[in-house]
Amino acid sequence: MNLLYKSTRNAEKTVTASEAILKGLAEDGGLFVPVEIPKLDVTMDDLKDMSYQETAYAVMKQFFTDFTEEELKHCINSAYDEKFDTEVIAPLVKVGNTYHLELFHGATIAFKDMALSILPHLLTTSAKKNHVTKEIVILTATSGDTGKAALAGFADVPGTKIIVFYPKDGVSKVQELQMVTQKGKNTSVVAIHGNFDNAQSGVKALFEDKELEQELSQSGYQFSSANSINIGRLVPQVVYYVYAYAKLLENEEIVNGEKIKVTVPTGNFGNILAAYYAKQMGVPIAKLICASNENKVLYDFFQTGKYDKNREFVLTSSPSMDILISSNLERLIYTIAGQDAQKNAELMKKLNTEGVYEITAEMKEKLADFVGGYATEEETRETIRDTYRSTGYVMDTHTAVAAHVCKAYQTNSKDTLKALVASTASPYKFARSVMTSIDASYDAMDEFALIDELEKVSGVEIPKAIEEIRNADILHTKECEVDKMKETVKTILGVEV
Ligand SMILES: *Cc1c(COP(=O)(O)O)cnc(C)c1O
Repeated sequence: MNLLYKSTRNAEKTVTASEAILKGLAEDGGLFVPVEIPKLDVTMDDLKDMSYQETAYAVMKQFFTDFTEEELKHCINSAYDEKFDTEVIAPLVKVGNTYHLELFHGATIAFKDMALSILPHLLTTSAKKNHVTKEIVILTATSGDTGKAALAGFADVPGTKIIVFYPKDGVSKVQELQMVTQKGKNTSVVAIHGNFDNAQSGVKALFEDKELEQELSQSGYQFSSANSINIGRLVPQVVYYVYAYAKLLENEEIVNGEKIKVTVPTGNFGNILAAYYAKQMGVPIAKLICASNENKVLYDFFQTGKYDKNREFVLTSSPSMDILISSNLERLIYTIAGQDAQKNAELMKKLNTEGVYEITAEMKEKLADFVGGYATEEETRETIRDTYRSTGYVMDTHTAVAAHVCKAYQTNSKDTLKALVASTASPYKFARSVMTSIDASYDAMDEFALIDELEKVSGVEIPKAIEEIRNADILHTKECEVDKMKETVKTILGVEV
């Protein structure tokens, strides 16, 4: 069966998986979605004996039906290899009575590696399949982690260039150093004088700019996206939820068919949407708990059915979740609107013009699988400190937001299902916030002294990704205003401004 994809804003046109991956964003500004979510065609009993790579194939072949077995396996094996510091790729660690799915064992120590280590392979394979001869320019907005993971994935990949925009004062020290020290002739990194939403809206506007598309085309370029609006990022994220359930089963933590709940620290709504897709594929997930930081626009949405981005943007200690426009939510809105592209487009237009929309009661009913929660800065710190004191386990700030929300939900709802928490970053990436949560006096130390101290405290060896930036040269110093992103892109590509 050939699974086709549609834009969330257009009911007519369909494209293949490889075309959707190549385009990134649909021409009408919508996001590509499969016309239906495929079911797993293997049983959990089969899956529990599979490696990560085998699980990846079992899941992805259901979505990327125009890839041959050879092509897909080549992409998978090129992605999930010794770039990861563990053979199991995504280890499950029991912390207290919660299972942490550690998604940060890749090259850049955040969960973005799970998808961005395979996206370049999916994209170059898609380009070949569709006889694309132009050079592909990956334009990416980042709240800190996507940028580095995309740079690492695309550095020196033939036929591609990558340009990353990040909010100048909106990322951690380690995140910034990781990006500005990136090697590779085809990489560019730009700090914008604005926040992540500005960066993301700016990149989206460039994608929708027909004039720019023409100019680039004449110079031999075409755009694609490494953001989670690209379906080639979302699908690889479904894999680890299937894998986690199968491993819980293999380890006899659950019995086959037993329902679990999953908590995901959420920003752009990509990771939790992948868990929702996993549920629809057949993984017994009862509740999807969406955890926000103080930018709790999603929590309010799940409470009230009203999405309202008109509020103060808060810089928190979990910067990768400092987002007010969660772009992947559009895929869920489209689904609960009964795949009504017109209705979805109307709501998104309202978001664009008024910054707010409200779903109908009927749509809200279809959100019963979701629960929203949030953690304040103080609750986040407390969670890191208390977990460390009671178990010795040190978690990062984003994961702590989820761990807090999961626990609060359990207390309030009396839900006793086994709990899986998506653990999205290594504590090393946010060393200052993590260490000062444990003891405020650490704030006096400089960044790398803190990192050495974290090694002692956690007993976890300093990852290669951190050692790499300790003495690395700064290679990228570009900055730009929010309204100058177009000119910046043209200058980088050597297209007449
Ligand atoms: C990107 C990111 C998130 C948010 O994930 P979304 O898919 O954007 O919801 C959470 N934690 C970390 C560490 C991240 O890098």
